[in-house]
Amino acid sequence: MSKGTLKIHSENILPIIKKWLYSDKDIFIRELVSNATDAIYKLKVLSDENSLNIDEGSYRINIELNKEEKWIKITDTGIGMTKDEVKQYIAQLAFSGAEEFMKKYTSKDEKEQMIGHFGLGFYSAFMVSSKVEISTLSYKEEATGAFWSCDGSSSYTIKDDKREERGTEITLHINDESLEYLEESKFEKILSTYCSFLPYPIFLGDKQINSQDPLWLKKPSECTDEEYLDFYRKLYPMEQDPIFWVHLNVDYPFHLKGILYFPKIDPRFDFQSSKIKLFCNRVFVSDNCKDLFPDYLTILRGAIDSPDIPLNVSRSYLQMDSTVRKLSTHIAKKITDKLSTLHKNDLEAFKKYWPEIEMIIKLGMMQDEKFYERAKNFLLWKVAGTDEHITAEDAIEATKDIVSGKVFYTQEDNENSSFLKLYREKNLKVLLAKGPLDNSIFNFLEGKLEKTSFQRIDGAVEEALLDSSKEKTLLNADGKSEASEIASSFKSILDLENVDVEAKSLSSTDLPAFVMIDEKARRMRDYLSMTQKEIPKEFMGKQTLVINTNNALINSISKLQIKNKEMTQSLVRQIYDLSLLSQKEMHPESINSFISRSSEVMEKLALMASES
Ligand code: ADP
Repeated sequence: MSKGTLKIHSENILPIIKKWLYSDKDIFIRELVSNATDAIYKLKVLSDENSLNIDEGSYRINIELNKEEKWIKITDTGIGMTKDEVKQYIAQLAFSGAEEFMKKYTSKDEKEQMIGHFGLGFYSAFMVSSKVEISTLSYKEEATGAFWSCDGSSSYTIKDDKREERGTEITLHINDESLEYLEESKFEKILSTYCSFLPYPIFLGDKQINSQDPLWLKKPSECTDEEYLDFYRKLYPMEQDPIFWVHLNVDYPFHLKGILYFPKIDPRFDFQSSKIKLFCNRVFVSDNCKDLFPDYLTILRGAIDSPDIPLNVSRSYLQMDSTVRKLSTHIAKKITDKLSTLHKNDLEAFKKYWPEIEMIIKLGMMQDEKFYERAKNFLLWKVAGTDEHITAEDAIEATKDIVSGKVFYTQEDNENSSFLKLYREKNLKVLLAKGPLDNSIFNFLEGKLEKTSFQRIDGAVEEALLDSSKEKTLLNADGKSEASEIASSFKSILDLENVDVEAKSLSSTDLPAFVMIDEKARRMRDYLSMTQKEIPKEFMGKQTLVINTNNALINSISKLQIKNKEMTQSLVRQIYDLSLLSQKEMHPESINSFISRSSEVMEKLALMASES
C-alpha cells in the first residue's frame, strides 16, 4: 500500500469544492454515472478499433444502495484504470483542475458549479460522502486491480486490489447530512432525470432506468407521429399533447440534434418557466434555460442534445457561452425553415396548425429581427367570412385599387357582424384579428411596412363604403344640409359628451348605423385594459355614431321627430346601443338600461299596433 498527497497547494480544497461548487448536491449522480458511461464508451471505441473481442452485451452500469451500511456503489464494466491511471486521473488531473478553479473563481458570486469544466466531476462524490473508494481493473491484459480510498482530506491511500471483473466500482460512504440519497425513490427520480437517455443499460438494483433511445437520434424520416407524441409524453408526462414539432439535425457550425415541440397553450400554460431540456451527449444538463433563449423560443418544449453544450456548468456560464448563444440563432432559423417549407408544400396542414402556433410566431417576429424577415411570408390571417388565409402584404395587394396602404381587420369574435357585410360587398378583405397580441403586431408591422396602416373596420368611415350619389345635400333655410340636420338632432337627443354624430350616405341600405372609434385611441384603451380594470376616461377615446341616411329606419326616425318626441328619443338611444352591442363595445353597465328601454319600446309598439 502506498500513501500519497493530493497534488494541490491548497490544503483544504475539498471543503471548498463541497461548499462552493455545488448548489445542487443531486448532480453527483449525474457526474458518476456519466463517468461510468464514458468509461464504457472508451472501451467500445478501443474494442472496435483494435478488435479486442469484447462482448457488447457486457456493457452495463449497476447501482446499489445499502441503507443499513450507508453506502452507494456505482459499478461499470468499462475501461477501468490501472494503479498509475488512478493516481494520474483521479489524484492529479482532477486537482490541477481544482487549482485552476481556485485561481479563477475566488469571488463569492461564482458559487455555482463549475465542476466538469475543470475535470472535477468525480470529486462531486465528496459532497455526499465521508469516504470514497474506487476499486478498478483495467481492460488491459495482465492488469492488476487497484484500490483507492480518500476521506475528503488532502491525503489518499492506494493499493493493489484483487478485483477480477473489468471496470470500476465507486463506493460512496454516505455522510450523515446526505442519508436521503439512500432512499431508492429519491435516487431513482434523480437518476431518471439525468440519465434516462444514456446509451448503456443502467440498473438501480434490478430495475433498468433507461429503456429508450432518445428519439432525436433517429432520422426524422424514420420517425412516426406516434413516436414524436410518445416521446413528448415521456418528457412532459403532465402536459397535453403538443401541436407540432421540428426535428433538428445540425452538423455545422456545431453538432446539434433535438426535437422542439410547439406546446398546446391553454389557460394553465406556464409562460414563466422554460422547459426545453438541454443534453450534452445524452446526459441531461438543465431545463432551466430561461435566459439562454429569447422568450418566444422558451415557450417551446422539447430536447436539444449537443456535445457543444458545456456539461456541468452554471447557468451564468451557459449564458456567457458563445456556442449556446449561436445555438439559439440556429434553432430559430431551423424553426422558420420548417414552417416555411410546410407553408409552401402543405398549406392545408399549415392552416390547421396556425391558430395554435401563431402566438409563438408573432412573438418571435417582434423579438427577433431575423425571425421577422423569415417569418413575414407566412404570417397569416384568416379573411373574415371565407376560408382564405393571407398575409398583410397580400391584403394590401388585393385591395390596392380600392384603398391604398390600408389593411382592414375585425375582431375574431365578430366575424358575422352586419357591418362587415358592407366591406365584403365592396370586395375589401377584412382580416380576423386576435385580441391584444394582434394590436401589438399591427403596431409593429406599421413600423416595418412602408405607408401601411391597419384599421379595425369601425376605425373610420371609408370613402369606398359611401354612395355619394345618394347623399342628402339639400340645404334648408339656414344653409344646413339635410344630412347634417339629422346628425345634429341625433346628437342632441343622445346628449353624450364623448359621442359625436355624423350622417353619411352608406352604399348599403341595410345598416342603420355604426359607432366609429378612433383606431389609435382604441388600441391604447385595449392595451390598458389588459392590466387595468377601470380605464381612465381620457383613454376611452371619442366615439362617432355614424348614421346611414340611406337606411329606412333612420329615415323613419328622423321623420317621427315632429310627431312623437318621446319615441324618437328612445329609438335614437336604441340605435346607438344596438350599434355598440353589435360591435361588442357595449359597456356591461349599460346592458340593463338597454334591456329596460327595449321593453318600453316594444310595449309602446304593441300598444300602437293594437290601437291602429
Ligand atoms: P472528467 O470526467 O470531466 O474528465 P472527472 O473528475 O469526473 O473528470 O474524472 C477524471 C478522470 O478519471 C476521467 O477523465 C477518467 O479518466 C477517470 N475516471 C473517472 N471515473 C472513471 C470510471 N468510472 N472509469 C474509468 N475512468 C474513470
